[in-house]
Amino acid sequence: MGDPVAETEEEIRSWALEYSRSHGWVLNPDEKQTNAVIKGLSRNSEKHGERYCPCRIRSGDKEKDKAIICPCVYHVHELEQAGHCTCNFFYDPEYL
Ligand code: SF4
Repeated sequence: MGDPVAETEEEIRSWALEYSRSHGWVLNPDEKQTNAVIKGLSRNSEKHGERYCPCRIRSGDKEKDKAIICPCVYHVHELEQAGHCTCNFFYDPEYL
């Protein structure tokens, strides 16, 4: 049996790669940052049952916190405005 956390990290990495590709984005080429975000998402998924953004504070209200399940409701606007999301996870390649 594999490590359940490591497995979840791999699932998240695969999802994030596919998701970013499908939008014409990339993951941050700084692997240290990318790995930290993936670890945080995985930890939140294990602990709290959802892939909550590791860069934002949960309110504890499940309805409200739906907004910060990755990909959060803010990321498209953030990529348009800044070229990357708050966690520096998804990037518009033109910004790099
Ligand atoms: S800022 Fe949004 S899109 Fe970026 S990692 Fe956090 S939840 Fe995901």
